[in-house]
Amino acid sequence: MAIGDLQWQFGVENGLPITNHQSLNHPTAQSPNHSITQPIRFFFATPPTGGRRRPAIFLDRDGVINERIINGYVTNWLQFRFIDGAEHALRDLGRLRLPILVVSNQSGVGKGLVTRRALEQITRRFVAAIERRRGRIDGVYYCPHRPDEGCACRKPKPGLLLKAARDWRLDLGASVTVGDTTSDIEAAQAAGCRSIFVIPATPSGHVMSASSGPTPETFDIPTITELPDQVARLLGRM
Ligand SMILES: [Mg+2]
Ligand SMILES: [Zn+2]
Repeated sequence: MAIGDLQWQFGVENGLPITNHQSLNHPTAQSPNHSITQPIRFFFATPPTGGRRRPAIFLDRDGVINERIINGYVTNWLQFRFIDGAEHALRDLGRLRLPILVVSNQSGVGKGLVTRRALEQITRRFVAAIERRRGRIDGVYYCPHRPDEGCACRKPKPGLLLKAARDWRLDLGASVTVGDTTSDIEAAQAAGCRSIFVIPATPSGHVMSASSGPTPETFDIPTITELPDQVARLLGRM
């Protein structure tokens, strides 16, 4: 898909995109609390309108696709560095012909450290870079909220996964979530997804050393290079 085909929306429940905070000042706008607790969504493919529910592959962003910035945020494209092997892994994942959806906490937006415009540009560019390497991302879901906002979408809550499941007609019980922190795994378990834990290459303070959580199961892999094979095994395609 060409970059010009990108469709994007900021969180919508009523079909009207909320593209900036000015809309909140309109007398007929919905209450700020309702609007502000929505995730930010980007669609790079058209979700199905019917048919059987399918599994999806959910990917965390920072620490799975790109290098984490410890104690900081990716605030512009120049700071976005693909993890070695990630683009190759995404190309192979795309061959499984299932929706590939990014689900990511970006509280830097709520803190005013990352603008929505920058988040959009970073998103367009990393998806386009993946497409150039013959990979594919179908949708990106961000929680832009600060931890103190108490939203329903910040992982470890499952809100991003549940929202995506409604948008894409997903079978969450058959889906796989990939992450590098315990909050990714907890969100997956709350949504009933199996999960794959990519053991962080750098000390993060969130390291889970073993697959010890409750069902659904979690599987550990040492690097992103292992991801396509592990996902295929979980989906019963190997
Ligand atoms: Mg992460
Ligand atoms: Zn949120």
